Amino acid sequence: MRRQDLLDLNEALQHPGRTIEAEISTELTEEADLDLVSPLEGTLTAVSTGNLLLIHGSFRARVVVECARCTAPLEKDVVFEIDEQFPVEGIPSSFNPREHAVVKADEPYPLFEGNQLMVEALLRQWLIVNLPTQPLCEFGWDGPCPVAEATARRRAGQEGETPFAALKKLIPPEDPQS
Ligand SMILES: [Zn+2]
Repeated sequence: MRRQDLLDLNEALQHPGRTIEAEISTELTEEADLDLVSPLEGTLTAVSTGNLLLIHGSFRARVVVECARCTAPLEKDVVFEIDEQFPVEGIPSSFNPREHAVVKADEPYPLFEGNQLMVEALLRQWLIVNLPTQPLCEFGWDGPCPVAEATARRRAGQEGETPFAALKKLIPPEDPQS
């Protein structure tokens, strides 16, 4: 099946020093664990030194995350820069038409199909590591949070009496005088 998100980097790989640029907009629809309010948008550039393929990018998205305290849904802007480099092997075809430079990424997960970058796979990783780690709703950590209180009350109601509290009732309290 042909992937829609493949970016052919041969223009850069076969012509070291030549920069290619691509405007990207993706909703990362295959990512069930990411909730985007707006598409992830930005620019990717790729240039080869001959031995290394350098990829840079500048991206932004608006995402839904959970408040770290009360798990209320929050909208946050995420802005991040991409800075990657991958080894390149072989002679660029612009130096010798019978040769061909090939990117040799040694990532534990596939990021390339031949010399084509799997843009969404790359963007997904960078977006996830740039998500806010402890997002907080307007109530923050301090002060009363009505959402957190309601959650705590509901949990307490569901759990009911703890086994320890039930056991305590069976044992008569000690007489402090003896
Ligand atoms: Zn909260």
